[in-house]
Amino acid sequence: MLRVGAHTSIAGGVHNAVDEQLEYEGNCGQIFSHSPQVWQDPNLDPDNAAQFRDSSAEADVGPWVIHSSYLVNLCTPKDDLRQKSIDSMQAELDAADQLDIGYVNVHLGAHTGAGVEGGLDNAASALDELDVPDGVTILVESDAGSGTKLGGEFEHLAGVRKRTDQDIEFCLDTAHAFAAGYDLSTPEAVDDTLAEFDDVVGLEDLACVHLNDSKHDCGTNKDEHAHVGEGLIGDDGMRAFVNHDAIRDVPLVLETPTEDGRGFAWNVERVKELREDE
Ligand SMILES: [Zn+2]
Ligand SMILES: [Zn+2]
Repeated sequence: MLRVGAHTSIAGGVHNAVDEQLEYEGNCGQIFSHSPQVWQDPNLDPDNAAQFRDSSAEADVGPWVIHSSYLVNLCTPKDDLRQKSIDSMQAELDAADQLDIGYVNVHLGAHTGAGVEGGLDNAASALDELDVPDGVTILVESDAGSGTKLGGEFEHLAGVRKRTDQDIEFCLDTAHAFAAGYDLSTPEAVDDTLAEFDDVVGLEDLACVHLNDSKHDCGTNKDEHAHVGEGLIGDDGMRAFVNHDAIRDVPLVLETPTEDGRGFAWNVERVKELREDE
């Protein structure tokens, strides 16, 4: 069954994310538990949290993902930033537990001089500090790979899994993978990229996809999302991707822009059109 939905706001209370998702005609989704640009605790109202759980169950909306703060940097060699990152991740995991959300998504961050191996060591040891509640899984997201950010190469994802004691899984962002140099613009390229992901990481551990088209070309390392089919991945690539055997049962979360008079509802509809036999 096709699971597709959008990153939704929790303005006015986390329960509002469910109504917003239903407006987009989405049936899974993602939230920030607080503003992602600042260090802040989720601080969820228990009544709103209960309403979120009930409404999601009743409307069969899920899985949900919490996307951690953009400030989190698991790879960092700086002690202060590392500790803030660990504390922030712990708060996200606890929020997920409170909301019955199964996934907390995180980027590896930037090694800022520690090197690839050092950065992966830092990330794994930071993950090892976390107390992960039952029923919650940490997803490490693929990155566009600019600067010293890790996660652009599938080997980085496999590398952190090898080093950590946590049972992590993965989120593949199509715009990031494309920008990082994995072509997704033709059916053949989609086949090759997913085969490579399978070889290096394993498709059985691909728990979520961030389905975004890209405003920048393959290999540019530039992270700017486009409407589904309207970027440089394009319709052929997106159609092949959403219909690929490896992807058909993976939830697709949209982080597409709101511009040109198109928002999430347009993109959800576009995915449904591209998907065959739905
Ligand atoms: Zn992300
Ligand atoms: Zn992005």
